[in-house]
Amino acid sequence: MRRWRALLAAGAAAPLLSGCIAAAVPVAAAGVVGKHELDRRHAKQEATEQAQTPPALVRGPGVPPPGGLMATKVPPSVQYLYGSAEAAAQQRQTYLELANFLIAKSSDRAVGHPVKSVVLAPGSTLDQPVFEPCGDKPLAVVLDADETAILNYGFEGDQVLRGGAYDQQRWNRWEQTGQGKVRPVPGVLDALEVARQAGVTVVINSNRLAANADATAATLKQAGLGSFTHLDTLWLSGDAGSGSGKDARRWAISAKYCVVAMVGDQLGDFSDLFNAPALGLKQRREALGTRDFEVMWGQGWFILPNPVYGTALKGDYGAVFPVETRWSDPAETQTPTPSGSAN
Ligand SMILES: [Mg+2]
Repeated sequence: MRRWRALLAAGAAAPLLSGCIAAAVPVAAAGVVGKHELDRRHAKQEATEQAQTPPALVRGPGVPPPGGLMATKVPPSVQYLYGSAEAAAQQRQTYLELANFLIAKSSDRAVGHPVKSVVLAPGSTLDQPVFEPCGDKPLAVVLDADETAILNYGFEGDQVLRGGAYDQQRWNRWEQTGQGKVRPVPGVLDALEVARQAGVTVVINSNRLAANADATAATLKQAGLGSFTHLDTLWLSGDAGSGSGKDARRWAISAKYCVVAMVGDQLGDFSDLFNAPALGLKQRREALGTRDFEVMWGQGWFILPNPVYGTALKGDYGAVFPVETRWSDPAETQTPTPSGSAN
């Protein structure tokens, strides 16, 4: 919105009121034209969320859970991601930043300023990254699906009740049958509306299976995220490359689109290079803060919290707590001895 305010104040908006940008004004300039538009969009998202009531994670006394499962305490990480206002605020913050960023990029394109891709090209390394060329390709924003665009209330609620390890086959069944049991991540509907009205195509790059493309498209649509076309605006595991790596799909998307922003909850949503097996915890944290990458966060790469699952959840004591930061309560007579490597 800052960009729009500056443009409007400078009288520079008139040239932009043609083509795709004109369509962005009613939404993008909501802060300028009044609160009504924002309220309408918030009401729309709330109505969508209320229509998709998630299953209860904790059952009341006397209410037997399905299948005779025991009522279960909700783990703190699950409380945070699926239940807390703090996580919702963080998600809204990220998506507002994304909306502002997309308006700025759309404005740049409209006035002929160069617009750059945020997808690392083949041959890139963490030390020598090279970004895909854009030319005059249409602009796009690429989002991961799970715990980025949608929150999987149904699956995670079932997992809390059942306990035990992650079950890939159960997840596959969830992909096929979970329509209506997810919620849009707070803020995502507003951001995608801004993107589309600014002429930025919304593309999903997910590790859900290509075999379940129709079911996943239905899940996204029912969550209010709009319609997606497999192999154009919906890319899934098996569509390009192999395994859980997403680079090959990003390159396929970049053949048609200039990807100006990406959103994810895992570093692999931005580059597979961050998931190199040889990369230790310390090196991984350092890699995203180098001169090349430190400027990407909130400026093309937008990341959301996920304390429940994924590549963030690793590292023993020695790796998580640097030696120079360790403290022991002086009131205690014994100092516990940690184990683990310091990498
Ligand atoms: Mg994800």
